[in-house]
Amino acid sequence: MSVHKKTDTMNDAEKVLKGLLEGSERFRKAEAPAERERLAKGQSPKAAVLYCSDSREVVETLLGCEKRGEIFGVRLPGNVASSKVLGSLAFGVERFHIPLIIVLGHTKCGAIAAAKSGAVAEDEDLQGLVSLVALDEKENVRVQVQRILQNRTVARLVAEGKVKVVGALHDMEKGTVKVLG
Ligand SMILES: [Zn+2]
Repeated sequence: MSVHKKTDTMNDAEKVLKGLLEGSERFRKAEAPAERERLAKGQSPKAAVLYCSDSREVVETLLGCEKRGEIFGVRLPGNVASSKVLGSLAFGVERFHIPLIIVLGHTKCGAIAAAKSGAVAEDEDLQGLVSLVALDEKENVRVQVQRILQNRTVARLVAEGKVKVVGALHDMEKGTVKVLG
């Protein structure tokens, strides 16, 4: 955990917030009003993706989405399928008739490194999260896929042939996203 000087942190936070709000305004001006109107009417995402909170894992970019509204995203460090994540995915696939759930893990994952090192033991909430992480990147994806398949709603939709669940890994160095067998 890094140590911040309090006053510097506040100044930094104010600057960051200002920059982000300016960025939001740039985005708003660049987006076509018709597109905003279309999206305001509703959503029909093509996939639900469970992926890592890692700042480098920008799923829409990695999967080449060109518009908003394509991905129903559920994001947690280590892309772990906690109880609330399972509820979120069940809600998404049923409510929006999403045919595909992808668990997208990645190499160089900080959550997996933290789970290996045991360095998060003092925070109970973090401990609970890290306890769900498997210690190998591919294995972690497979374990989360299995958890999702055990969710009642997902299991029913899979049995009815309405939903498919796959695991994939983003290789941070190569840039590839490959489905795991
Ligand atoms: Zn990660």
